[in-house]
Amino acid sequence: MLILGISPDTQAQKDRYQQKVKYEMDVTMDVEKNQYTGTQKLHYTNNSSDTLNRAFYHLYYNAFQPNSMMDVRSRTIADPDRRVMDRIQNLSPEEYGILEVKKLSMNGKPVKFEHEETILEVDLGEPILPGQTVVFDMEFFGQVPLQVRRAGRDNAEGIRYSMSQWYPKMAAYDTRGWHANPYIGREFYGNFGDFDVKITIDKGYTLGGTGYLQNANEIGKGYEDEGVKVPSARGKNLTWHFKAPNVHDFMWAADPKYTHEKVQMENGPMVHLLYVKNEKTEENWGKLMQYTIDAIEYCSENFGKYPYDQYSVIQGGDGGMEYPMATLITGHRNLRSLVGVTVHELIHSWYYGVLGFNESSEPWLDEGFTTWGTSVVMDAVFEKDSNFIHEGSYRSYFRLENAGYEEPLTTHGDHYNLNSAYGPGTYNKGAVFVEQMAYVVGKQNFDKALLKLWNEWQFKHPNGHDVIRVFEQVSGLELDWYYDYFIASTKSIDYGVKSVEAAGNDTKISLERVGMMPMPVDLVVTYQDGSQEMIYLPLVIQRGNKPEEEGMPKRVKTQKWPWTNYNTEVILERPLADIKSVEIDPSKRMADVNRENNKLDVTTNLEKK
Ligand SMILES: [Zn+2]
Repeated sequence: MLILGISPDTQAQKDRYQQKVKYEMDVTMDVEKNQYTGTQKLHYTNNSSDTLNRAFYHLYYNAFQPNSMMDVRSRTIADPDRRVMDRIQNLSPEEYGILEVKKLSMNGKPVKFEHEETILEVDLGEPILPGQTVVFDMEFFGQVPLQVRRAGRDNAEGIRYSMSQWYPKMAAYDTRGWHANPYIGREFYGNFGDFDVKITIDKGYTLGGTGYLQNANEIGKGYEDEGVKVPSARGKNLTWHFKAPNVHDFMWAADPKYTHEKVQMENGPMVHLLYVKNEKTEENWGKLMQYTIDAIEYCSENFGKYPYDQYSVIQGGDGGMEYPMATLITGHRNLRSLVGVTVHELIHSWYYGVLGFNESSEPWLDEGFTTWGTSVVMDAVFEKDSNFIHEGSYRSYFRLENAGYEEPLTTHGDHYNLNSAYGPGTYNKGAVFVEQMAYVVGKQNFDKALLKLWNEWQFKHPNGHDVIRVFEQVSGLELDWYYDYFIASTKSIDYGVKSVEAAGNDTKISLERVGMMPMPVDLVVTYQDGSQEMIYLPLVIQRGNKPEEEGMPKRVKTQKWPWTNYNTEVILERPLADIKSVEIDPSKRMADVNRENNKLDVTTNLEKK
């Protein structure tokens, strides 16, 4: 059994380039008109070996206008998101979302650009050469949409501004080229960089979001250092100055009624809560701070240390959505739901936020790891579950598989035929992929690989194949087949115990593969005296064995099972009379869609005969 050494400073994929962005923005919000104007200076470094002749900015708010692609999609898909439905079609002009670029130049020279709804197509005139840094200067205008999906004003709980996807954002460029996806509903991907953002707004408002407040002692609102007397602001507005290093997006939220609480963790970030205190929030939000701290501690220990100095849980948005250093969640919830959504969005900080999984083209990777992590962290910080903690994810995947409209998880988030294939697929089958990986490589290897993934790939946008490689490196196993079958296809797993018979003084166990996806099989034999032993049947194509796992019955036999063979037989050197039952994967980590045929009870079977 080969286990490669793990050193955290190993340089992963030195040849994987990344574009670098550096934004400076200065915006002024008119809280009467819900409109804003801004300037943006973008330092853009082309670290690719490609010469770029065009560039693309996202203009997300233009999705919130009648007949936009998002509107049409929502009115034509068979199972629309109930938050969207036909609501965009019914927006009035003052409720539209608008994001318009008024002026744009590169290195001081105006460039040609065209608004194509939620994408600005830019003809650069002069190309950006490999290795070159250019500076874009822009003036833009925005109108905050009445909240329909994620961002917007005056959400269902009355929060004035949930300002995500609010600025013209340069589309990501990577080894697959430009990612100029129109905004249909799903989700986000951006190049890492630094943000310097000044927001001028009515001084009655309290803000929160991505980024460290630079002028806390002038702003106050609970951000000031202890004991500082904040001067009362002259004039109507305050200018909030934020800086956010090494993030791929910048969100902010604002409301005049926010309560702001903060706690500095001992070995972690400053945690902020911003919410409107009333009878619907007071009790549960009062308990949320400690749960958030516990969750950050748990994740930092088990998934990798949280690298920023700040994390904020902010009431806003339309459910729960993750952003760098912060989340927007709706706040009128029971305690389990409030903690659950916070933990879920927080865990995105590890996978979407810092590793930088591409939520748009590989949503399963981000939601899968996050959903898996939510079950683990809720069990650790909220309520111990005596059952298999991922059972809910497995059940949801089984229902999807059974429903007949499952789609391969390689599908781009916007292009699933049905929302009801996207949700159970990316979240739950994605979570099953992660937990099942522990079954394939063994729990100890799995835990090591999670940390190796973090150490080697943070801030580098690993894709599904990169993730698989990390598990290969730690386990010494070949795992391409696992990705190809479970992610890139909808083939499913079904193994069965066919018969257990006497073979002289020994026992012959006949097994069959019913499903199209091959898997290594853990077969547990329970004897009449209650003791148990493990027979391990690895696939030939995995080129090795997982090590014995702690807490599992002792492995007494290893026998390869080639994927081409639908049937196999195992000879156990014990008389049939000793055996009570044999069972495939009692740990339930293998996603066997039919568990009915997994166990054969020899005693009852003999009695029947
Ligand atoms: Zn999520």
